[in-house]
Amino acid sequence: MKIFEKDNSLLNFISESISEGVVIVDNKQQIVSVNNSLLDMFGYSTEELIGKHLDILIPKEIHEKHKSYVKDFIKKSDKRQMGHGRNLFGVHKSGAYIPVEAGLNPFEWENYKYVMALVIDISERVKQEQKIIKLNAALEERIQERTKELHSNVIELEREIEKRKIAERKIKSALKKERELNELKTKFLSMVSHEFKTPLSGILTSTILLGKYKLEEQQEKRDKHLRTITDKVHYLNNILNDFLSVERLDSGKETYRPTTFKLSKVINEVVYNANMLLKGGQRIDFPPEVDEYTLTQDEKIMELCLSNLIHNAIKYSPENTTIKIDVESTDKILTISVTDQGMGIPAEAQPHIFSRYFRAENAINDQGTGIGLNIVKSHLKNLNGTISFVSSENEGSTFTMTIPLVANSK
Ligand code: ADP
Repeated sequence: MKIFEKDNSLLNFISESISEGVVIVDNKQQIVSVNNSLLDMFGYSTEELIGKHLDILIPKEIHEKHKSYVKDFIKKSDKRQMGHGRNLFGVHKSGAYIPVEAGLNPFEWENYKYVMALVIDISERVKQEQKIIKLNAALEERIQERTKELHSNVIELEREIEKRKIAERKIKSALKKERELNELKTKFLSMVSHEFKTPLSGILTSTILLGKYKLEEQQEKRDKHLRTITDKVHYLNNILNDFLSVERLDSGKETYRPTTFKLSKVINEVVYNANMLLKGGQRIDFPPEVDEYTLTQDEKIMELCLSNLIHNAIKYSPENTTIKIDVESTDKILTISVTDQGMGIPAEAQPHIFSRYFRAENAINDQGTGIGLNIVKSHLKNLNGTISFVSSENEGSTFTMTIPLVANSK
């Protein structure tokens, strides 16, 4: 202390030329000197600080810690920076805390140990830092908000894209359906005009000829033409029935009326009618045991399905061939197959054979509408039955239908 008093002017000169606050303490941590910057910083006068314990400038709660810290520091006597990286505070005379940074410089003077602390008021810096932290936080918040907004915009966009995709798919499929429908209409019209033209001109010829056979002995000829007319009217009637069937199936108006009957009744009826269509040398074989089977189904529909398969077998087979009907059953399902030795179905046509109006290339010369199998398939589907086929071109085909012995459909 004394030494400092002696050399006061030198010390004053040194400490006043430093812009940081300067406080020098002895080994008991008593303040022995301060400069004006420090007085300004802490709000004291020199007299109020000299001789006081350094604690006067330090927050109460760290007095103890600080004491041992400084002691330890004086012992080691190395330079050190305080407050870096942590919050260090000084206490202003008013009691307010001042954020500071302090550099400690231990030195010896005439065998006395001292520490000179260079104190910087970092309130401004802390204020700036806090401002920056606040700004950063606000920025972060804005970014998060914007990100959220963007995210929800993206989700919205994705939804919109999905909606548009669905709409596009719908439009495309509607267009496709429309195109298919147009194709079907065109096919239908050309098929109708073709299919009706031939029998109608046949009927016309027969009626003209009929008018010419006036003599009594020409009765046979008249009968022949009457048969032709009846056949062709039947044929046209069948086509019209098929069209009506398609319409009913499409609109879901088809209703089924199950009754209990013997399979032999249906087979006999169908074979009897089919006999009139047989070509020379063609025959239909069916097993004698069909009497064993009793069904509870819509008899008319059974007849329609079976006669379709048999008429096709006759139509698409040459003379002198056999058409074979096979029947078998489990306790629930009846299976009927019709095998012919006819032209068969070309491999490339096979996937389309149940499509409405479809006719294979090799069948074009025979009369037909391409509706029959489509109708059979729809009916069997409604009755929980199935239809399938195997066929080789120029060898023949087998069409197989299954149907529950007892109707369990709609
Ligand atoms: P349609 O006989 O009036 O043309 P279908 O729907 O009954 O109509 O048959 C569709 C097509 O399937 C026929 O045009 C023909 O190409 C083919 N087809 C059906 N049955 C046979 C068969 N038994 N042998 C060969 N081809 C067949």
